[in-house]
Amino acid sequence: MIDIFSLTKDDLKNIIAEHKMENYRANQIFSFLYKRGVDNFDDIYVLKKEQREYLKSHFSITRPSLKTISTTDDGTKKYLFQLKSLEHIESVLIPMRDDKFTICISTQVGCKMNCKFCATGKMGFKKNLTAAEIVSQVMFIMQDNNLKNSPNIVYMGMGEPLDNYDNTIKSLKILTDPDGLNISRRRITISTCGIVDGINKLKTDFPNINIAISLHTAINAKRDKIMPINRRYNINDIMQSLKDFPLPRRKRITFEYVMIKGFNDTKEDEKALLKLLSHQKSKLNLILLNKHEFLNDNIQPSDLESINSFAEHLRKKGMFVTIRDSKGSSINAACGMLAVRTS
Ligand code: SAH
Repeated sequence: MIDIFSLTKDDLKNIIAEHKMENYRANQIFSFLYKRGVDNFDDIYVLKKEQREYLKSHFSITRPSLKTISTTDDGTKKYLFQLKSLEHIESVLIPMRDDKFTICISTQVGCKMNCKFCATGKMGFKKNLTAAEIVSQVMFIMQDNNLKNSPNIVYMGMGEPLDNYDNTIKSLKILTDPDGLNISRRRITISTCGIVDGINKLKTDFPNINIAISLHTAINAKRDKIMPINRRYNINDIMQSLKDFPLPRRKRITFEYVMIKGFNDTKEDEKALLKLLSHQKSKLNLILLNKHEFLNDNIQPSDLESINSFAEHLRKKGMFVTIRDSKGSSINAACGMLAVRTS
C-alpha cells in the first residue's frame, strides 16, 4: 500500500497512468483529498467505480492520530501526534494579527544536530518523517481549526528539514499544489541550522520560498561551541551559499538569533553581526532563549534590557531587527522546546 499523502501530483500521475488513468484524474484526486478533505476513496465520486476500487486496493489515506492538544491564553495550541510507527511528533498553531495563523511543523522525530540550547537535540535522532507525515500535520491542524485562508507554514518544529531533504521537497510540492492546499510559496519558510548542500540544492529544486538561518552568533569560534554543525559548514560557507538565494519578491533572509546571557549579547557580537549582515538583504530576529529542563546551567537567557539595547544599537546602524515574542512557552511549544514528553 502506498500512502497517498506521500505523493506529489506528478508521482501520482505516473503511477495511475500504469492503470490507464488520465492525468486529469490526478488533479481530481488531489482536489478531493486536500480541498475537500475526504478520507475515503469511495467519496471521490467523480471517478469510475473500478477506478475507486483500484485506488482502494493500492493506496491508503493515513492520518496521524491525535494524542493531546495543549492551549495557552494567547491561543497558541500544541498538537501531539502519534505516528503509525508509534513515535510522537509535535506541531504548533500560532495565532497572528488579523485572524492569520502560522503552523509550525516537524520534519524528523528528534534531531541529529545537537545544538546545545535546544531540547529536541537532547532526545537524539529517531527517524525522518515521510512526506505524508509532514503534510498531514498541516492538513490536520487546518481541519481542526476550520482554517479557510491559507496559513503561514514554518518548518521550525522538531528536526532539521534539510537533513530530511527529499521528503521536505516533496512536502513543499504537495502543500503548494494548486489542486491541493495551494499554499503560496511566499507563506512558507524553511528554517535551517545551515546545511549548505541542502541550501544549494533548494535554490534549483524549490526556489522562491523564504529561508531562515539559525545563526545564533556571527563568530565562528563561538558557533563551534554551541552548534556542532558549524565545524562542517561554517558561517562563511553559509553566507556564500545565500548570495544568490532566490527569495520571493520583496522578502528578506531571516537570521535567527537566540540571546544567551554573556555569550552572544556583547559589543563584540554586535560588531560581528554588523560586519556579517551589512551586505545581505536580511532581517535579524532576536529570540528570547526558552528555558527547559534539558538546558545546561551555563546557558541562560539574556535579560530583556540587554536584548532591547542590542536591538537598538543594530537598528541605529541600519539593520532590520525584530524581537520575537516567544509564544507558547508555558506549554513548551516555543522554539527549541519540542521534545516529546509522553510518559
Ligand atoms: N533545525 C532547524 C529547524 C528548527 S527551528 C533550525 O535549526 O533552524 C527551531 C528554532 O528554535 C531554531 O532557530 C533553533 O535554533 C531555535 N531554538 C532552539 N532552542 C531554543 C531555545 N531553547 N530557545 C529559543 N529558541 C531555540
